Amino acid sequence: MTNAIPATLIPGDGIGPEIVDATVQVLDALGARFEWEICKAGMAGVKEFGDPLPDPTLESIRRTRLALKGPLETPVGGGYRSSNVRLREEFKLYANVRPAKTMVPGGRYENIDLVLIRENLEGLYVGFEHYIPIEGDPHAVAIASGVNTRQGCKNILEYAFDYALRHGRKKVTVVHKANIMKALTGIFLETARDMYKERYAGKIAMDERIVDACAMQLVLNPWQFDVIVTTNLFGDILSDEIAGLVGGLGMAPGANIGEHAAIFEAVHGSAPDIAGKGIANPIAVMLAAAAMLDHVGRKDLGDRLRAGMDQTLNIDNVRTGDLGGKASTAEFTKALIANVK
Ligand code: NAD
Repeated sequence: MTNAIPATLIPGDGIGPEIVDATVQVLDALGARFEWEICKAGMAGVKEFGDPLPDPTLESIRRTRLALKGPLETPVGGGYRSSNVRLREEFKLYANVRPAKTMVPGGRYENIDLVLIRENLEGLYVGFEHYIPIEGDPHAVAIASGVNTRQGCKNILEYAFDYALRHGRKKVTVVHKANIMKALTGIFLETARDMYKERYAGKIAMDERIVDACAMQLVLNPWQFDVIVTTNLFGDILSDEIAGLVGGLGMAPGANIGEHAAIFEAVHGSAPDIAGKGIANPIAVMLAAAAMLDHVGRKDLGDRLRAGMDQTLNIDNVRTGDLGGKASTAEFTKALIANVK
């Protein structure tokens, strides 16, 4: 790249610094020039600033509008709120993009190649919940309201159709539950149909699935899907299901795209059980970096990085322990660097 692109780099917690450092080495070898602003978040943020999402980190992302993020530790049941959710809200990261592609043959399913695009801000995740107490039971009735807006539906659907076209995909499947939640997810389906008719018919195919049928069909015949777009809760569930089709979260990258920023990350957590041992698999965060290159208009470099990983895993047979190999993070990274130069 001619000019270095300013970007925020959050090494994160646990194995984060090891796999993010490996990724930066590979990006350097590729000639992908980023001007990194290295920032703290998660437990590392708490230790240095007393805040899991410190102001200097937020300011950096406001400036660069682009970040590569390692996993962040979040205490379970109490403690601070997830920094990931705060980032999503702060930067209106409305689209969560999770590709699932078979990288290592021999798993339960071969040749999986699909992308799930999930609405990230609305639906049943808005947190409008309360209980109604009855006769001494404070939790006698639980009520949650979901909110989907026309504009929110337009944003995510437009993102999905444009993503599909940009990436040479053939079909977008709109997943809903409009037979039961006629308003809440009906608005999503209605917006999809209108948008397709007005702008995308003839350019790409669209079909529709009810979420429960989609979940079953993903197990029976995942090859029928290409790009799937859906609302927040359904997307949360289906994206883990599709990660399962390609061997689990360890190989799954995620991108959070919004009006004000784009944040790329591995889907897995900070793996405290193996942190500091030098054995973590850096592939998920490297795939996230490849998606970041696509996002900044350097799909050529993203493709080279993905091809290099394929060669390292499947021709050189250099794999980390979680994939049945013996390589350390550093050994895998060295082999990959030789393949992307
Ligand atoms: P985890 O994903 O960290 O670990 C689950 C298992 O997978 C562990 O055995 C771990 O060793 C293994 N694993 C994960 N990534 C690996 C890799 N790259 N290479 C090899 N093995 C890998 O999930 P967890 O243990 O439930 O969570 C640990 C912490 O991470 C928690 O604090 C959680 O809140 C946080 N977390 C953060 C994110 C994020 O920042 N996006 C996502 C999930 C969990």
